Amino acid sequence: MLRIKNGRVMDPASGTDAPRDIWLDGDRIVTVAPPGGGESQRAPAGTRDEILDASGLIVAPGFIDLHCHLREPGIENSETIETGTRAAARGGFTAVCPMPNTRPVNDSASVTRGIVERAAAVASTRVWPVGAASAGSRGESLAEIAAMQQAGIVAVSDDGKPIATARLLRQVMDYCRSLDLPVIDHCEDASLFAGNSMREGRQSVRLGLAGMPAATESIAVARDIQVAELTGCRFHVAHLSARASLEAVRAAKKRGVRVSCEVTPHHFTLTDEDVAYDTHYKMNPPLGSAEDRAALIAGLADGAVDAIATDHAPHEPASKEVEFDRAPFGITGFETALALALELVHAGKLPLMRMVELFTTGPARVLGRERRIAEGQPADLTLFSTEHAWTFRAAESASKSRNTPFDGRVFRGAPMATIVAGRVVYRRDA
Ligand SMILES: [Zn+2]
Ligand SMILES: [Zn+2]
Repeated sequence: MLRIKNGRVMDPASGTDAPRDIWLDGDRIVTVAPPGGGESQRAPAGTRDEILDASGLIVAPGFIDLHCHLREPGIENSETIETGTRAAARGGFTAVCPMPNTRPVNDSASVTRGIVERAAAVASTRVWPVGAASAGSRGESLAEIAAMQQAGIVAVSDDGKPIATARLLRQVMDYCRSLDLPVIDHCEDASLFAGNSMREGRQSVRLGLAGMPAATESIAVARDIQVAELTGCRFHVAHLSARASLEAVRAAKKRGVRVSCEVTPHHFTLTDEDVAYDTHYKMNPPLGSAEDRAALIAGLADGAVDAIATDHAPHEPASKEVEFDRAPFGITGFETALALALELVHAGKLPLMRMVELFTTGPARVLGRERRIAEGQPADLTLFSTEHAWTFRAAESASKSRNTPFDGRVFRGAPMATIVAGRVVYRRDA
């Protein structure tokens, strides 16, 4: 048995914030007890507990990332299931949800099965695939959603682009409601694009880069909320970035619509003022204004936002070494997510328990799942320090890609150990 000793357990599901020892047997939690308790669970005579000393650390339920790109199958020069989940484990994640925009697109049971089988063989974390909403994510006809659910998808999305029309979205949502699957949309009305480089505003004018207004997102969020209301389907907004979008989500939640949303670390950390011509600041949705960032942080703290998701989007170096206009969207995110969230905690803007919720029970609820530290639960745990001082070096990342604006950033707080199904898949040297 593995005994995690002397940690401070924080479990948003029960509200526990107290010193506890935890015993794991195989892939399950068998006992949670105050330090010195749980002696009846001592290993049988002749065997010994393996001990993991968590002194000074927070012990949280395993972190879940609702939104990432592992690039396999098809784009393995940027990332693979093996390298991506190794980076995820270093970031404290125990389960990750890869989006379907691979080659081929994950729009059929055979592609889903391929991902699930590959993950079983090489992944450090659990891999919960998201299936395409439409065939090829082309926005024309439904993908094989029921068959993919049988094969293991946990949600559907055409991420990378929005679900094309309200009519198709209604079909997808009608269908997914009957399967009890959430629909995740990359909300964007592309007809408003003047270009696709950054948020339209003072900074885009200053840099002479073509911009997209915040309404590009909020118009699509409003459309989707209305279709969710019409169909009764669970609807989740991917990488929400604009204040107006969050206001629409807040109002819909108040009306009882089954809507949820996620925010990425880069959107709560950076703004369009940070964008120069460095392509490591180019992502979709683009970085918003300071007012947007303030609204997102308020939503993280007060519960309007349900989850922190990375949108980890690796690109091989050559693809980002081009003009800003021509560069692909996205940055890597697994290894910096927790440390960036802790910056909000240290600044007094986000209570620590609430931060833990945004990485654990929050995303679990979006998927209709539970996440808690209790007897009989899966032994998925994230151990982290709020104080550990370190510097993020992109060159030392476990990801295949290096496209991050946070290279060289000095952090306070880090994941220290990641446990998946009772197995320590990552341990940071103190
Ligand atoms: Zn997206
Ligand atoms: Zn994405």
